[in-house]
Amino acid sequence: MDFEEQEERQFKGEKGEYCEMCGAKERLITLNKCPMCHKYFCEKCQINFGGKTFCSDFCGQEFFFGGDEEDE
Ligand SMILES: [Zn+2]
Ligand SMILES: [Zn+2]
Repeated sequence: MDFEEQEERQFKGEKGEYCEMCGAKERLITLNKCPMCHKYFCEKCQINFGGKTFCSDFCGQEFFFGGDEEDE
């Protein structure tokens, strides 16, 4: 995994202007919105699941299989 040095926490952009997963800025990347948790994420962070893209594998599973069942 190649996490570039984080430049402190200077990511004070508007929601939707940066990836909420890794903090990448929109001008360098394409952002997508997670249909499950509504976070924005870049192509690096996206997970393909069932033909859709999500911010994480968790959201993909929740979107398709999620329910009210909490069995843990
Ligand atoms: Zn990202
Ligand atoms: Zn999500």
